[in-house]
Amino acid sequence: MREPTNLIPSSIDESLLLRVFEMMELGGIGSIASALGYLRDAGIDPVASETQPVLVEILFQMLECLEQNLDDSALFAVVAALDPLVAGVASDMLVMANFPDGNIHLSDLGDGSIMLLAALYAGAGKLSEAIDVLRRSRFERAGELFQNAALKRMFLLQKEDDGVIQLLFEQTLDGLDHPEVWNILPAIVEKFPTLISEIAKLLDNELKFYTEFWSVIHALCVAAEGDLERGLALLNPIATAHSQSTMVQGAYFHIKGLLNPQNPAFDLTSRFCSLPFDELDVLDGKSHLCCASWLPQSVGDLAEQPWQDVWNSDTAQSIRASILDGSFRFCNKTACPKIADNKLPRRDQLVASSGRWRDVIENFRTRLANAPERVNLAYDQTCNLSCPSCRTGKVAADAATRARFDKLQDEQILPLLRQVKLAFITGSGDPFASKNFRNLLDRLGPEEYPDLRFQVMTNGMLFTPREWDRFPTLHGRTAFLRISLDAATGPTHELLRRGARWPVMERNLAFAAELRSEGLIDRLEISFTVQVDNFAEMGGAVDLARHYCADNISFTRLTNWGTFTAEQYAQKAVFMPDHPQHREFIQRMRDPRLRDPISSLLDLSQYAPAA
Ligand code: SF4
Repeated sequence: MREPTNLIPSSIDESLLLRVFEMMELGGIGSIASALGYLRDAGIDPVASETQPVLVEILFQMLECLEQNLDDSALFAVVAALDPLVAGVASDMLVMANFPDGNIHLSDLGDGSIMLLAALYAGAGKLSEAIDVLRRSRFERAGELFQNAALKRMFLLQKEDDGVIQLLFEQTLDGLDHPEVWNILPAIVEKFPTLISEIAKLLDNELKFYTEFWSVIHALCVAAEGDLERGLALLNPIATAHSQSTMVQGAYFHIKGLLNPQNPAFDLTSRFCSLPFDELDVLDGKSHLCCASWLPQSVGDLAEQPWQDVWNSDTAQSIRASILDGSFRFCNKTACPKIADNKLPRRDQLVASSGRWRDVIENFRTRLANAPERVNLAYDQTCNLSCPSCRTGKVAADAATRARFDKLQDEQILPLLRQVKLAFITGSGDPFASKNFRNLLDRLGPEEYPDLRFQVMTNGMLFTPREWDRFPTLHGRTAFLRISLDAATGPTHELLRRGARWPVMERNLAFAAELRSEGLIDRLEISFTVQVDNFAEMGGAVDLARHYCADNISFTRLTNWGTFTAEQYAQKAVFMPDHPQHREFIQRMRDPRLRDPISSLLDLSQYAPAA
């Protein structure tokens, strides 16, 4: 804006206006309010041409207030109380001061000017222009403070519940988590006291999806009004039924955070996760930057695009941006073990300790020049077993599918792995049951891939001395051997591992222990997926892991991969508070063996007794 002129036309009472200028010398919202009140009481028209220097000064002071605080609610209250005519003239003055030709370029305005212009437009009765200014500016500028302040204004400028409901729908219907919206709900429900009952009416919507959507918003609004326990109780059954929904689990995490305000695990704004910057998980038809059950958004398909394009696709960059802005909006916050177990590092620690992360974090880098360090090969679901938690029947790739995977391996995977440090085979089936993975392993010898190491994940049934000898590629290059074992006894193992035999498992575990003791594999790890059928064996599984020299045993919640109906999953999800055996589960979580240093409780850690 141009400097204000202090030249007061001689046709008005100069002393009155000089008095107003004096009042404003103190600065701040108090002096602005006093000046406006003085003009009003003195009967001076603020938009008369003689008074406009005062109005210019007021605008300056407002901008100064917004420089200190973009979300200055006292200032917005003063603007909202302006006469619409005054607000209209002030908005014109603000525009003309910046753009004498009258053509507004929002990108050339400062954050405070945008906020003020929108508030003045709204004050002048031009609500749609006000919202448009905020919406377009949010699209153009990344600053977190501006983003949050502009979003809050968009809601608070609304006149009716209907406008708020429409905005809530627009801002959150993408199915992602929106902590920036959940955080401003208290201000929204305070300004719109009938909003909760209006949203409750939407729960009868005949379209089931929207009913669930509005149920989540309803629970969040109830919590935002102050009734946290009721908000959580409303959300509990939805969270059980939608264990894979990023939005539902994010809402659950948000309310749990409100209930535990001192617990730093619920504040992710200063945390960082390196996975989307280091890892590519290649599934059949889609790829992810993390485990697909924790971060379900696909970033592209390696069968359709070069891996470089997938690695830096628009979605990949949005996911990285969500880590950098602290929203983690693509992450399933209750399923992710790093979030649930409070294991995410702080950003400032990473900046201090590593040049690479300093560059990424300080420059908000979402497009990466480097290839992924780790690639999870998870496109072939072929497996020798058909565990009920994973699939409804046995899966074996047919000839056409195998040919497709061969092409993918030849054209994309083999060249990509030349730049990769760790190949994870496999989270999708069993590596020793898959012809494609067996062929691939044969081609990844140390001569051509000297820097490549392996993480092998298997159900263990085929992990025999004979198979180990068959794959010299793995010898001395296996950083992790991970065996999934959801039981500590034969009957439970054979129930949950359909097609498995316990004596074979015991034999193969003993062989894995031998390899570990002889240093032929770097680490032996066991993963245990907890559900109603096996939670009583968690302690026994730690004993078993010790017995077989495992370096770690990790416990995670059962995931619904689509193999269960919502009711079936609820029946198995013993870790959910509504489950009839939840108290017994909590009792089992007190087992001292679960506090063994080799035991990791990951996304179940919240149920462990405090240390
Ligand atoms: S889901 Fe968890 S591990 Fe995955 S990117 Fe998000 S924070 Fe990281």
